[in-house]
Amino acid sequence: MQTIAAGQAHQSSPLRVAVVGAGLLGSSAAWQLAKRGCEVVVIEAAKRPAEGASGKSWAWLNANRKTPSHYKELNSRSMQLWHQFPDLAEFPGTISVGDARDEDPAYKSSNLSSADVSSLEPELSADARAQPMRLYSQEGFAYPAEANAHFLHQAERQGASVRLSEVAMDFHKAAGTSDAISAVMTDKGTYETDLVVLACGERTPEMAAKLGVPFRLADKPSDHVVHTKPMPRTLHHIVIGGVEPGEELFIVQRRNGAFLIAYYKGEGAHPKVVNEETGRQVLHRAARLVPALAHAEVDHIVVGDAPTPFDGLPVTGFHPACSNAYILCSHSGATLAPLLGQLVAQEIADKQPADLLQHYRPTRNFNVGSHVL
Ligand SMILES: Cc1cc2nc3c(=O)[nH]c(=O)nc-3n(C[C@H](O)[C@H](O)[C@H](O)COP(=O)(O)OP(=O)(O)OC[C@H]3O[C@@H](n4cnc5c(N)ncnc54)[C@H](O)[C@@H]3O)c2cc1C
Repeated sequence: MQTIAAGQAHQSSPLRVAVVGAGLLGSSAAWQLAKRGCEVVVIEAAKRPAEGASGKSWAWLNANRKTPSHYKELNSRSMQLWHQFPDLAEFPGTISVGDARDEDPAYKSSNLSSADVSSLEPELSADARAQPMRLYSQEGFAYPAEANAHFLHQAERQGASVRLSEVAMDFHKAAGTSDAISAVMTDKGTYETDLVVLACGERTPEMAAKLGVPFRLADKPSDHVVHTKPMPRTLHHIVIGGVEPGEELFIVQRRNGAFLIAYYKGEGAHPKVVNEETGRQVLHRAARLVPALAHAEVDHIVVGDAPTPFDGLPVTGFHPACSNAYILCSHSGATLAPLLGQLVAQEIADKQPADLLQHYRPTRNFNVGSHVL
């Protein structure tokens, strides 16, 4: 085994940080940590970034229906940061079909009349237009794989060392000292480090267990995400909703004309194995909202589960079981990646606790509860 010292631990040297996981959250944190002068090594099991949840995400940038209010605030602030990346995110606004809720004073929206809808989205079906609709003009969507690659590339440009196809297997704790980790052992070598950021997505429970931290993810039904071949421009907004009661679809047409259609709530279980029939069914449902989709051709289908801590809220910070391991795991990580990256770096590199993260500490019992997302 090779020993790779990522730097020296004495005070005048930069803080050595090993980030395990190069999804959106790990890459964003690595970028911000390297920018603040930390000596960062990113360890990623896959051959390229965005092979985990980040690459499967529909990446709707929103704070819609998010509770409690501090979590809505966290998401809203991060949405703002995405405007710095016009190549990686668009903000066309969301039309929510079947949305009869009152306006939330903390989250701007407006009711749409049928005349409004005809002018904003003339291709929506009569069934869709028969329902109440609301416009959330501040919302957008990201290109998550491209954003993930960009964040990681920026980390490298700031001096981070990125180790792809390398699996973090375990952590070494120096004998006779505190509970602190002194090195990360991978399948290829050993990285001495002052601090570890655990950004392992759905593998967080397994890696946290090695540190003595019990970590439970919520078991949510999988989302079926259909990507179509490019089509002529049809939609100008994100469209969410459904025609059947309880049915929820997310539909967006990307820059190249291809649609991303996520079917995430409705009748029956969402199996993890998908086939051509899955694609046909999702398109059939989507066509009831946007009839042009009856002629769409499936390019590929993705099945995804967002890594969601059991109580539904992010987990960010140190756990008493291990004083130098920072846990970073969240649902809505696409929305939250830019802000969480900055706040994590503020807490680690600047040693300035972030007020915005005070509700998400691993010291709370996040393994219980039933927070609804
Ligand atoms: C279908 C779907 C839809 C979603 N929709 C939205 C949405 O609309 N809006 C939104 O904001 N969020 C959404 N999310 C959630 C969001 O995408 C995730 O919260 C975010 O991508 C999590 O990023 P991450 O970096 O924590 O995890 P991941 O992207 O999963 O990255 C974790 C990485 O860690 C690596 N890893 C794990 N263990 C090890 C190890 N031992 N050694 C080395 N590497 C390791 C993995 O290979 C992986 O690359 C969605 C997610 C899914 C799946």
